[in-house]
Amino acid sequence: MAEDKGRILELIKRVLFTDFVKGLTVTLGYNVSKSITHKYPDEEKWVPYRRFRGVHTLNRTETGKELCVACELCSKACPTQCITVIPMEDDTGRGIADRVAKVWKVDLVRCLYCGYCEDACPTRAVRLSREYELACTDLSCTVRQREELLKPVQVPESFEGGVIAKSEFLRSKRGIKVKVDLSITRKRPL
Ligand code: SF4
Ligand code: SF4
Repeated sequence: MAEDKGRILELIKRVLFTDFVKGLTVTLGYNVSKSITHKYPDEEKWVPYRRFRGVHTLNRTETGKELCVACELCSKACPTQCITVIPMEDDTGRGIADRVAKVWKVDLVRCLYCGYCEDACPTRAVRLSREYELACTDLSCTVRQREELLKPVQVPESFEGGVIAKSEFLRSKRGIKVKVDLSITRKRPL
């Protein structure tokens, strides 16, 4: 009896195209709903949440000394072995505390953004920043070197994120730069 009822219901559904109507309702709903187009990157840029894991950054002390002691623990902990560290002693050469990295580079194409390198670092030198713009036209730019990673990051750690901020897209002969104005933001509409 119950089986017959199910069959009749299925037949009615087919005759009335209920599944088709349901699908059409969703499509039409999107057609009349407010657009959520993100005008990236010319006018707006998404600022990630604080815990977002993006491109690496190498930190310094307040006095400007590099925190990295080139212990290579980050490269050993990395599951994809995309970090290369080559140590050297600095000018004073006073032992392990003065060891610095001669080379510290990361291959962002192979990176999983898992954060194991951050966890392994005893001096909190390496952090994953909130920088997520990795697109480029030359494969060499996917490998980030120490000198570049030591530069300060654009989004301050204190900024909460999860918003879309006003941005300006600057093109020059030297490349492309996106300037973010964190004083003008709106919540991400999702
Ligand atoms: S985030 Fe993970 S995969 Fe990427 S460099 Fe660090 S440890 Fe390696
Ligand atoms: S970033 Fe940290 S873990 Fe990696 S070599 Fe430097 S001090 Fe060691």
